[in-house]
Amino acid sequence: MSYADLHLHTTFSDGQLSPEALARRVKQCGIAVFAVTDHDTIAGWDEVQAAASRHGLTALPGVELSAWVEDREVHILGYGFDPEHAALRTHFANMVEARRDRMHEMVERLNAINIEMEVETVAALAGSDPAFGRPHVAQALVEGGVVPTFDEAFERYLGRGRPAYVAKPNVSAADVFALLHEAGGIGVLAHPGQWTSGTLLRRLIRAGLDGIEVDHPSHTEVLRSYYSRLARDFGLVQTGGSDYHGHRSGEEENLGAYGLSQAQWEQLAAEAL
Ligand code: AMP
Ligand code: ZN
Ligand code: FE
Ligand code: FE
Repeated sequence: MSYADLHLHTTFSDGQLSPEALARRVKQCGIAVFAVTDHDTIAGWDEVQAAASRHGLTALPGVELSAWVEDREVHILGYGFDPEHAALRTHFANMVEARRDRMHEMVERLNAINIEMEVETVAALAGSDPAFGRPHVAQALVEGGVVPTFDEAFERYLGRGRPAYVAKPNVSAADVFALLHEAGGIGVLAHPGQWTSGTLLRRLIRAGLDGIEVDHPSHTEVLRSYYSRLARDFGLVQTGGSDYHGHRSGEEENLGAYGLSQAQWEQLAAEAL
């Protein structure tokens, strides 16, 4: 049972639930503290705060930023920053615009290989004005009957090296950490088990990394202890969360099952927030 879930998505990026609906589910699962970490945007923050106060929850400002370390894309979870910080807001606005252009380009690339899809179709299933991502296009491919499953949409079309893959802007991890620090926040490496070698981790630490997401559904018990030990050895904070999006099979049971205990949350809040 988790007390704090620090990795959640809403309709402001590729999640399926509004902040209100998410807060209700979070509350039902017995969670007390949550951070919505939409991809490259904090457009949902006002709604998140309002929903948190309606449900008696504590909300921490959060975001999941896309960044690059050389030719590798990593996800950096930002926490505890000032949501009004001007430079951070500019970065989010640029990223959301780039994500919109990228969505158009993905659709064009699909059209070029004779897969019919319209930008409006993707926009309609994505919510009012979200930070678009590949999951939205994947959903359109599934709903259009082009592929049977979400995963297959990535395997055949949207994954790196596939015909409709479009990279996001090459923002360095060091720049992302600097921005977060300037705005009073911290930067944590998301789900390191999906991509991180020791060398990459050391490079990120030199670039300004503050913490590691130790608890995540993609981590085995062995990985969790490994990252927990690395965090202690390198003096990094430890976070955790469910990475719940609402729309993918198998994610429902993750809510309430991943994150931090009350003691871990209190330690994080005291050390870093
Ligand atoms: P984007 O930020 O638009 O590049 O989309 C990345 C998101 O797509 C990730 O956060 C995952 O949630 C999802 N994703 C990436 N690769 C896959 C995959 N192979 N299968 C399913 N979902 C994926
Ligand atoms: Zn996502
Ligand atoms: Fe991620
Ligand atoms: Fe995520």
